[in-house]
Amino acid sequence: VPEEFTKAASILTEIQSHGYEAFFVGGSVRDALLHQPIHDVDIATSAYPEEIKQLFKRTIDVGIEHGTVLVLAGEEQYEITTFRTESTYQDFRRPDKVTFVRSLEEDLKRRDFTINALAMTVEGEIIDLFDGVADLKQQVIRAVGNPKERFHEDALRMMRGLRFASQLDFTIEEKTLAAIQEFHALLEKISVERITVEFSKLLLGQNRRAGLRPFIETECYQYCPGLKKYGAELLTFTELPNKKIDSEAEVWALLTHTMALKENELRGFLKKWKLSNQMIHEIQQLFYGLNKRLLTDWKPMDLFNLGLEAALSVEKLLFYYGQKSKLEEVRERYVNLPIHDRKELAVSGNDLLQFFDKKPGKWLGDLIQVLESAVVNGEVENSQSALTMYAKDKISEE
Ligand code: ATP
Ligand code: MG
Repeated sequence: VPEEFTKAASILTEIQSHGYEAFFVGGSVRDALLHQPIHDVDIATSAYPEEIKQLFKRTIDVGIEHGTVLVLAGEEQYEITTFRTESTYQDFRRPDKVTFVRSLEEDLKRRDFTINALAMTVEGEIIDLFDGVADLKQQVIRAVGNPKERFHEDALRMMRGLRFASQLDFTIEEKTLAAIQEFHALLEKISVERITVEFSKLLLGQNRRAGLRPFIETECYQYCPGLKKYGAELLTFTELPNKKIDSEAEVWALLTHTMALKENELRGFLKKWKLSNQMIHEIQQLFYGLNKRLLTDWKPMDLFNLGLEAALSVEKLLFYYGQKSKLEEVRERYVNLPIHDRKELAVSGNDLLQFFDKKPGKWLGDLIQVLESAVVNGEVENSQSALTMYAKDKISEE
């Protein structure tokens, strides 16, 4: 039993000592059985949220209407979710849309895939009502129960299935896959934000191709933002070297670049996915960088403008175009740039205003830009005397 669970054991025993049931559930049990790193340890319980809140001093209501209370224990925090179901005929109460139940079995039944429907007792015993362990061994993503019904209840599960195929390097079981194929259009009803979360995880998975192929074959892509007309490009993307990509910005840059989007189409496309402005900015940098770098080697100003991290990201992506990534060389070239920021210029805007005794205006910004690239390109030394001389020449040229 991994350390993450032993750390949380006292939470389970505390709940149990008050007569309730409590189990480890979901992704953490799956990942432990796969000997993969565990992210968050989720706990399911027969206790209602109000009951959980009475048992622990430090709790946060993160989704009480869905039955989830966050319990803080030392440095750790655990999501504790009351057993719940989505059907309406249980012995229950029904705040909002979920129905709390007192049985683990009902709770496991409403989960998406057999490998995600495993529970574990505090002693480490696995509760496996849907043959999830066998599916883990066979590396299969299989819906719990009837896949058609399950995707009708929540169409996002189709995208989740595809992302688990990529993340875990599993295959999607035949009936589950057929149901995705049949009902892919239901994705239309799902909010973009939820789709984006799953698609990003798919893109970052260890076997991207294992998620992307069925994503294309089942035509799920047709109901994802901005992809409808890009079936052929998506296939090309799928056939790129399958090496895992760890950065979200990098993988989106590679995708959009393979889609051959125009520079003026890129932002609109990424906006459709409701990615954050920060993420969109990073992706744009890499996309422009790729366009440049695929044409010629880096120029000093390219490195200066992109910054080291983005330049290295672009350089890494060259691998997917069958080119060699020269990471160390790029790092060295960057480090050896005369300056790395406009602030490092030996003259400031104020210096120039005083020196030329002119009113501020567009000339000043233009001049600073000229000085900056002259320094970056090694055409002039970054000293006050050299720069004022250079500036004087430039101004008198005009
Ligand atoms: P990750 O490692 O990405 O967190 P996870 O399996 O823990 O994977 P979560 O989204 O954190 O995924 O969900 C936790 C658990 O809740 C899942 O393992 C699954 O049992 C259940 N679950 C999550 N989303 C759904 C859904 N849309 N339909 C049914 N069950 C779901
Ligand atoms: Mg999780």
